[in-house]
Amino acid sequence: MHARPAALEGFLDRAIKKTMKDALLVAIGAALDGVDVGFCAFDSEDRTLSWNATFLSLFPEHDGYVYVGEPYSENLRRFYSLRLDHEQVKEIDRYISEGIQRHQTQQRPYEFDHRNYRLRVSSFEIGKFGRLRVWRKVAMLPAHVEKPASTTQALASLDATAALERLADGVLVVNLANTVLWANPAFLDLYGIASLEKALGKSFEEILRSAWRGKEDNSFSRSLEKLADSQLYPGAPFELTLPSNRCIRVVEQRGNVDGRGYFLHAEITHIKRQQKALAEAEERYRLLAHYSRDIIFLVEHGVVLYASPALTELLGWSADRVLGRPIINFCHPDDVAAAEAALQTLGVQNEAGYRARALRSDGGYLWVEARARLLPDDHQVGAARVVISVRNIAASKALEDELENARWRLQELASTDALTGLANRRRLDETIAAEFRRHQRDGKPLGLLMLDVDHFKALNDAYGHHVGDLVLRRLASILSDSAQRAGDLAARLGGEEFVVILPGVALEQATAIAENLRRSVETSMFDARLASAVTVSIGVAANIGCATAQEVLNRADAALYEAKRTGRNKIVVAS
Ligand code: GH3
Ligand code: MG
Ligand code: MG
Repeated sequence: MHARPAALEGFLDRAIKKTMKDALLVAIGAALDGVDVGFCAFDSEDRTLSWNATFLSLFPEHDGYVYVGEPYSENLRRFYSLRLDHEQVKEIDRYISEGIQRHQTQQRPYEFDHRNYRLRVSSFEIGKFGRLRVWRKVAMLPAHVEKPASTTQALASLDATAALERLADGVLVVNLANTVLWANPAFLDLYGIASLEKALGKSFEEILRSAWRGKEDNSFSRSLEKLADSQLYPGAPFELTLPSNRCIRVVEQRGNVDGRGYFLHAEITHIKRQQKALAEAEERYRLLAHYSRDIIFLVEHGVVLYASPALTELLGWSADRVLGRPIINFCHPDDVAAAEAALQTLGVQNEAGYRARALRSDGGYLWVEARARLLPDDHQVGAARVVISVRNIAASKALEDELENARWRLQELASTDALTGLANRRRLDETIAAEFRRHQRDGKPLGLLMLDVDHFKALNDAYGHHVGDLVLRRLASILSDSAQRAGDLAARLGGEEFVVILPGVALEQATAIAENLRRSVETSMFDARLASAVTVSIGVAANIGCATAQEVLNRADAALYEAKRTGRNKIVVAS
């Protein structure tokens, strides 16, 4: 055997391959015809290679026109000339180029309506070979593209059985003897029947029994009873249960001509569950509101729509006296402003709280705490529905008030100043009165210094109140150091003003003590942080010639004022 030239070899190879390829395509097309799937193959340049009979039946517009080697664009042109209306057809070239685009890039199947059917089309790219497109009918369209002459004709041409086949609800047709004539796939599925043949000739009761076989329980017997009852009231819808609590609603239509029974079996398990859950939730919330010790109000535009029974228990009102009235009417006049202010914030935030005295039916008031929440605006804009829960806080309020009173009483009773630990104003007043009387009696002197920090406000402003407080504490310790003798008393009059009582000290000696004090403040209170010294001004006075303790204080005060007026960081002795 002599070798064939390489060129011929290549040609023969290609020829054989081509013949085999064509034969394969024809075989695929025929096979797909067998399952009613349309088929068309294109080469890598989108030219038509092969198609089958189903393709032509789905797209009769190509019958007699399509040819091997036809560009896909011509195929699309025929397709679109039929589909597009008068206006759209002007843009047919755009439709065609988009169609080609889709054809070349299609990854996923999609559905479209053509002539009598809804079609699902899928496309596969086969390497360098080209593309295969296949079409399957997914549904028959209710009305054909070729318009029938009349509605009756349209209905007649509609394949009713096909429509029923595809219904999601079960359909059962029985004859006069109540045995199965026909059922759609949804019905067979519902009752677990493998095929229509298995159901033919059986009664529905038999079908129900076999669906329950092996799992019969109370629901099964109840379903049988309902089925028996339904025979007494033909036409009345009824509900049956299937295992696993599935619920079926059955509606019968008895044909009056043929005596056949047409049943619709719809599964309503899901709806039933939802209804049940809803009813349970409603009952739960009703119970919560009913037995809550708090009053739950539903308020719309400030008016009470609902009040829970605790209303009567807490405030004595019956619901009918409160419903439809503004909730603010039940608020103590002094608390209305606070309540309204809180409720007004509800536009901005979802929750607000306030305390108020609530009006009781006997005219008295009860301290309550209210928490208000805005409900989601479910229908109208600005419906402003608010749930307010109101709690009795009379007991805790009374306790709080008592604590507050006690705090005040304790503070009054206390004799030391909380910040500095010096004697406070109260103790100063008591001591000065007693000392004054004693020294009047004994004819002994009583010296008094009144002291004020210079420019203290500026210090506070520059370094903060906290630093100011520290300065006051340090000053207090200098003062108590210089008031060491028995009977001496350093007191805080208030703010940054202090008083030192010096029993048995005459004006001259008091002046010397004051000067010492001033200097020791000036020198010891230099603060690196403040970068300057804290200074004080002092007014000095004594009891000689005074009729009352207050008079001594007044004199010292006047002297202090003079010290401030004439330059600060100095002492002035009362004349
Ligand atoms: P001057 O006495 O020299 O005329 O000036 P001043 O700035 O000290 O005068 P004024 O009496 O107007 O200011 C006193 C300031 O003391 C005002 C107040 O803020 C402050 N003050 C009062 N009590 C306290 C306190 O307990 N702690 C602190 N940090 N500051 C106080
Ligand atoms: Mg001052
Ligand atoms: Mg002052």
